[in-house]
Amino acid sequence: MIYDAVIIGGGPCGLAAALSLQKRNISNIIIEKGNIADTIYRYPTHQTFFSSAEKLEIGGFPFVHEERKPRRIHALTYYREVVKRSGLTISSFEKAFNIKRSDKGFIVLTEKEDGTLREYRCKAVIIATGYYDNPNRLGVPGEDLPHVFHYFKEGHPYFDKDVAVIGGKNSAIDTALELQKCGARPHVFYRGESYSPSIKPWVLPDFEAHVKGGTIGMTFNSEVISIEKNGIRLKTEGSEHFYSCDYCFAMTGYHPDHKFLKKIGVMIDAESGRPECNPETMETNVENFFIAGVIAAGNNANEIFIENGRFHGDLIGNCLQDRLVKG
Ligand code: FAD
Ligand code: NAP
Repeated sequence: MIYDAVIIGGGPCGLAAALSLQKRNISNIIIEKGNIADTIYRYPTHQTFFSSAEKLEIGGFPFVHEERKPRRIHALTYYREVVKRSGLTISSFEKAFNIKRSDKGFIVLTEKEDGTLREYRCKAVIIATGYYDNPNRLGVPGEDLPHVFHYFKEGHPYFDKDVAVIGGKNSAIDTALELQKCGARPHVFYRGESYSPSIKPWVLPDFEAHVKGGTIGMTFNSEVISIEKNGIRLKTEGSEHFYSCDYCFAMTGYHPDHKFLKKIGVMIDAESGRPECNPETMETNVENFFIAGVIAAGNNANEIFIENGRFHGDLIGNCLQDRLVKG
């Protein structure tokens, strides 16, 4: 079988793209290395979205929620229900590892968890692989020690522990608040000179109250030099010092992996990290090769979210409909 399109990634934006193609009778399959909405599954357990429920909706399926903002578990329920009702074709726990051009379009090569290799032939490819698999590394000695993490799940294991949190945007602030709630002693070290404007405005007052009350430590203008077994070495306002702690959360953000794009010849802007693409169709400079969701954003993790990336699917659907269906 030759699919009209293979979509790599079953996050909200990959799902939205599949729904858009389904609506237009464009045959497609999603290849997902985990299960659907895997990034959301891997969020902190008690994560509250900054978006209201209707801004996370895809494919016209209503996401009704009685509170102002849904939590992770509500979004997981919603996306499962959308997949169930729409009957999308999804192959989960299957990782795409290569894409080749063929005379009819593309061949996507994949591997199932048990090692089975597969090939999918298609006329078009949509890359919707997000960024959450690739944390921004500090690039300092000690970063790979076992008490250093780039993802936060829950605060309980850190009860009565001293914990350094590196970074100064939403993940760092949320992590420190969750840790404090669970009886840890968090201290945030941020390289910026003041609070970032990216921090959600309703979160900052709570955080600042903890800083004023001494239950969360906050140090600005602070860069990590190295991480050691029992603490981290920093340079703050020009002077070196050592902060003793049991654990370290480097909440320094994430970046997309461009390997499929580069392999197939998509141009990436060296400065912004943005792949070349037509914003009206989401088609890259390679014909019939599209991007959807946060992979389109480049280096700025605060530019494309579910809220706006969910609309990429319709742009792609319109373009493919003209090309494949109308001919
Ligand atoms: P993702 O959701 O990351 O999906 C990509 C999928 O591709 C994943 O399931 C992954 O497993 C799969 N994949 C990757 N590589 C392969 C491969 N080689 N083969 C097969 N599958 C692969 N956004 C909002 O709009 N509102 C919010 O309130 C909000 N809150 C957030 C809270 C947190 C803590 C975080 C970290 C992010 C938040 N975001 C929010 C951002 C949001 O999560 C992302 O914008 C969204 O997940 C992007 O969707 P996506 O489909 O582009 O990518
Ligand atoms: P982010 O927004 O990219 O922020 C990363 C932070 O780490 C920034 O403060 C950055 O500093 C710092 N940093 C990056 N590299 C560093 C380095 N090498 N050394 C020291 N510091 C470094 O990442 P994020 O906070 O994880 O957020 C990722 C995405 O998830 C965003 O879209 C965000 O909106 C979303 N999110 C949402 C919620 C929510 O809904 N409540 C919660 C968490 C995250 P600079 O400020 O100097 O750049």
